[in-house]
Amino acid sequence: MKPSFYNVSMRVDEDKYLLMNPLFGSLDEVDKEVIEFLDSWEETRDIYDSRIMEHLIKRGYLTERSDDEEMALMQKKCCEIHERYRHCKHAIIVTYDCNMNCAYCFESGAWSRGLAWRKKVISKEQVMRIFDLIGELNSEFPHIREEKVSLYGGEPLMAGNMGIIEFILEKGTEAGYRFDVNTNGLDLKEFAPLLVHYGLSPVRTTIDGPPEIHDKRRTNGKKGTFHDIVEGIEAIQDSKIEIGIRVNVDLDTIKYLPELAHFIQEKGWFDHPRMRFALCAIVGCVGKDIAVPSLSRIIKEVIHLSQEHPLVRRFRADWEGTVRGVPEPNLIRVMMNGVPLVPRSVYCEAHIGLMGYDPHGDVYSCPRFVGHPEQKIGTYIPLLKFTENYERWQNRSIFTMPKCTACNNSPLCGGGCAHKAFLETGDITNPSCKAFNAFTKHCLPYVYKRWKGRQPTNSV
Ligand code: SF4
Ligand code: SF4
Repeated sequence: MKPSFYNVSMRVDEDKYLLMNPLFGSLDEVDKEVIEFLDSWEETRDIYDSRIMEHLIKRGYLTERSDDEEMALMQKKCCEIHERYRHCKHAIIVTYDCNMNCAYCFESGAWSRGLAWRKKVISKEQVMRIFDLIGELNSEFPHIREEKVSLYGGEPLMAGNMGIIEFILEKGTEAGYRFDVNTNGLDLKEFAPLLVHYGLSPVRTTIDGPPEIHDKRRTNGKKGTFHDIVEGIEAIQDSKIEIGIRVNVDLDTIKYLPELAHFIQEKGWFDHPRMRFALCAIVGCVGKDIAVPSLSRIIKEVIHLSQEHPLVRRFRADWEGTVRGVPEPNLIRVMMNGVPLVPRSVYCEAHIGLMGYDPHGDVYSCPRFVGHPEQKIGTYIPLLKFTENYERWQNRSIFTMPKCTACNNSPLCGGGCAHKAFLETGDITNPSCKAFNAFTKHCLPYVYKRWKGRQPTNSV
């Protein structure tokens, strides 16, 4: 008998810890002495209360299995889980062009490939080929047949692309697919009737602060865009479309969150049944220098603001889902709802079949690498053909990165974001620990305290 290799303990309050074991799906709130007992097992094993020992065995924190046996079991469990998600998401990159020029754009690094390259728009033939391909992939994985297709860019919803967007929605709907879109929102008002007609949902757009702050960061080259985006949102808010509004923050703009929160409150959007708001920290860009704020500092600042301005709590923070992506539920939901913890061997969908098809005939698996041919995973014209990158992306897991394999946090962390790893180390096959560490150190104790008493957790 020994403590499980996959025990993870996180301090969430003075003497309180969350003890977790993703191999068993356990999460318990425990006192410091339980953690000390497990940490000094060899000395204390014979003197401990048998009832607590019994509970620790029942919840998988003490085990007869060797580390190797536990790892083999974990690998088997993760494989089964992730097989269920394969080829689950498809995105059409309508064009790399965009009618905004945001200072922090994570795609702008690819624009150095030239104006003609950037302005190319996906053709009708390519669109039909993509629908055929999705059909082929769906028939290969009938148990996870995915009918949702994302529209992505650059900016997919530019007024000049109305014709091709209508073609995509018409032909895709005939073929049985449904759509969602990521848009900067600038021409959303013009597209509203079309999106409502085809029931496209959700629409995900971005507002980066109150008007004067947003307009400094998100311009159309001549003027700010705040009011155009707000009008676009208003044009669809009474339809059945779900609306996700993202707020990108860095250390300069974060202090304006309370002001934005008041604007949203006055609009009645926080209580709108189909609107959601998410905070995201600015991310870096391949091929261009963008100052990336420390996630720890951003989280601390958001916590500080939330205490002074409770309205700020209405924003869901992206990093609360840092144990995010696949599979669900994430750690926060496990903690809040008492459902079993599910392990993950990969960080996100880019490693289990996310496919983005671009206007140049290329396929990418990570939205933040689109337009960077050194990371493309294949081509789809005339037939789908994967490059050697496909295997690199699909194989990136906690079992292929030695540092992660030896890390007991790994089935909660998933090895971190490959895009971040590339920015940090120049290679996607390295781990990226920073987000997980920032999340567990600053965010988890805060969320724990906020919801403590409201939701069930098991306690020893
Ligand atoms: S990325 Fe870092 S924290 Fe995450 S599993 Fe790998 S080594 Fe552990
Ligand atoms: S690798 Fe990172 S940026 Fe790319 S899809 Fe995954 S989480 Fe997103």
